[in-house]
Amino acid sequence: MVSRSEILIVGGGVAGLALATRLGGTLGKQGSARITLIDKSFSHVWKPMLHCFAAGTAQNENDRISFMSQAGAHHFEFWPGEVISLDRAKREVVLGPLRASDGSTVLESRTVTYDALVLSIGSCANDFRTPGVAEHCLFIDNLVEANGFNEKFRMELLRAYATNAELDIAIVGGGATGTQLAAELHKALDIVGLHAFGPTPPRLRITLLEAGPRVLPAFPEAVSAAAQQELERIGVSVRTSAMVSGADETGFSLKDGTHIPATLRVWAAGVKAPDVTKSYGGLSLSRSGQILVKPNLLSVDDDRIFALGDCSFIVDDPLPPTAQVARQQAHHLARHLSAWIRDGQDVPACVFRNKGAIVALGNYNGWGTLPGGSVFGGGVLKGLTARVGHLMLYRQHQVELYGFFRGLMSCVADWIDTMVRPSVRLD
Ligand SMILES: Cc1cc2nc3c(=O)[nH]c(=O)nc-3n(C[C@H](O)[C@H](O)[C@H](O)COP(=O)(O)OP(=O)(O)OC[C@H]3O[C@@H](n4cnc5c(N)ncnc54)[C@H](O)[C@@H]3O)c2cc1C
Repeated sequence: MVSRSEILIVGGGVAGLALATRLGGTLGKQGSARITLIDKSFSHVWKPMLHCFAAGTAQNENDRISFMSQAGAHHFEFWPGEVISLDRAKREVVLGPLRASDGSTVLESRTVTYDALVLSIGSCANDFRTPGVAEHCLFIDNLVEANGFNEKFRMELLRAYATNAELDIAIVGGGATGTQLAAELHKALDIVGLHAFGPTPPRLRITLLEAGPRVLPAFPEAVSAAAQQELERIGVSVRTSAMVSGADETGFSLKDGTHIPATLRVWAAGVKAPDVTKSYGGLSLSRSGQILVKPNLLSVDDDRIFALGDCSFIVDDPLPPTAQVARQQAHHLARHLSAWIRDGQDVPACVFRNKGAIVALGNYNGWGTLPGGSVFGGGVLKGLTARVGHLMLYRQHQVELYGFFRGLMSCVADWIDTMVRPSVRLD
């Protein structure tokens, strides 16, 4: 039997870090396989809360998990670096040079070999090559971009306050990211008003642009309608059937000729795999650049390469790019890779079990759907059940990675932190 003892996981996001942690705890601990994780950053964040980093309402160190420390505690290796290409014949990936923040080279380009490769490099927003978007819009696809947005948001708020003007923000994309970001920015300003700017904090004018007929298209119509109503109640201007045709330094142009002025322009629409998948050894890709896989998550082209999470596309039964899918796929591989390594047994098809979906509009409102289609949240409790459910998903993820006790301590530390520091980033 061919040796399959070097398992290389590229991308330590929702899927990759869960997989590395589980495999490290089994195969890594037993010494029956060497598990290595590579990520282009040094720490993991739960991507569904990136809009909170962008708004400044998440700022705690506990919200980032150091890959090195996670690796040390869970019997796997971690190497920082961006995988820029792969050579399937040699079974090796190529990492680009690692540079320090001043641009100096820390590590030259390197190669790492594998017996089994798992690609879990996630996704980014898709601007569909709309003119001006790449040059004039902000994105919140990773922590660096979310923090970059937050810096601009705080500076523009200050400018708006000094000039007694409104701050115009336009967000393209009425899915979970766009709607949640709009609400979180309002929440951030509400909290900022408690600490700074005196009795007349700056005013926000947020416009949410959605090309389709309703926001939150993945949710039932009743949730879309209620969410739009809630957003409008807190002052967000929601424009559906608004197809953006271009962006410049003054705002967005719509297909119908309207111009939406905006000092800050955010693109949060569409999903595609990172462009780098095009240089991954000629693997077959979907139209959005995702790696085509079989139902058992093996690449359609190579029986030593798996892909999961947002960067993968199951040919016969595509699934939405969500954290729930990424997590279930990671658990599936963690369960079956050991028999694949030990006995050469095939990995069975991964069957997705839809457990519903949740959206939380800051602390204003929230809704969830159950697998049968019924809806919860909203109402007089302002969606408390859904908002708590949304938070619990994050805590569950933390507990899974940290273990129960440390996960619980992290939760307590966050709670204490809110008592001693402003719950929004002010500097
Ligand atoms: C603002 C926002 C809100 C969201 N809200 C929700 C929600 O409420 N519910 C939900 O289910 N989903 C939500 N999602 C989607 C969810 O976050 C993704 O589906 C999920 O994170 C996908 O997990 P993943 O492991 O495939 O990729 P990711 O979690 O994105 O991880 C990818 C990892 O790969 C690394 N990487 C990328 N390229 C390379 C490379 N070339 N070399 C090395 N490393 C690389 C990255 O640094 C990252 O750590 C949201 C997404 C965003 C952006």
